[in-house]
Amino acid sequence: MKIELLDVTKEFPVRDSGTPFTALSGVSLSVASGEFLTLVGPSGCGKSTLLDLLTGLATPTRGEIRLDGVPVTGPGLDRGIVFQQYALFPWRTALANVEFGLEAKAVPRRERRELAGHYLDLVGLTGFAERYPHELSGGMRQRVAIARSLAYDPAVLLMDEPFAALDAQTRESLQEELLRIWQATGKTVVFITHGIDEAVYLGQRVAVMTPAPGRIREVVEVSFDSR
Ligand code: ADP
Ligand code: ADP
Repeated sequence: MKIELLDVTKEFPVRDSGTPFTALSGVSLSVASGEFLTLVGPSGCGKSTLLDLLTGLATPTRGEIRLDGVPVTGPGLDRGIVFQQYALFPWRTALANVEFGLEAKAVPRRERRELAGHYLDLVGLTGFAERYPHELSGGMRQRVAIARSLAYDPAVLLMDEPFAALDAQTRESLQEELLRIWQATGKTVVFITHGIDEAVYLGQRVAVMTPAPGRIREVVEVSFDSR
């Protein structure tokens, strides 16, 4: 799915003040179908706000968002967000957590289990299907969260600093895993990070944002050879 933001501004009302706070200011950006775009900028620059606009959780004050060329009115992209805090259901096994992504889609139970198993394999968790979240490491839990998002089969995989809470070694192994999954599924990925290293390593293009009010300072193409 192709994503376009056209001169998008997002303001939030400030209590007891006539002047709204501008979180995003005149952002124009496009993400091609199947592209891996990273969005990097300091804390508070409006990265999460931009994701909220894509999911329809927030609406632009001005400007337009188009998905596959069609202006978004109302709800935006299918939910398929992987957050830093993976928020698995603690009372559900890894498999049942992944199945959750499919329950909303009325997939028959048996097929659901098979598909969920397939996505656990894809994230390298074969053999861990019956484990509960507390029986898994942080990195493994984050993999379950990724598998759950993939199972939902979103048009775009949105990731909001998904690896920020992990130790360096685990983060590196999940970065590799994510690139592999991206190549295997061909999904459009929008990946938010405040780490420039991570942004440049993962992204085909890196959109660099300014401190608030968030603007796109530059969009950098990263050559494949540098991976
Ligand atoms: P980032 O994800 O880059 O850290 P955010 O998008 O979370 O940044 O926030 C950008 C700015 O907008 C911050 O200064 C934040 O305080 C402000 N902001 C975000 N959401 C709201 C809101 N609902 N109301 C008022 N201000 C908000
Ligand atoms: P990861 O980087 O893969 O998330 P962690 O360092 O968080 O790994 O995992 C802690 C331990 O869990 C590791 O020592 C490893 O032996 C085990 N582990 C993690 N993933 C797997 C896997 N896919 N298969 C077998 N063991 C695993």
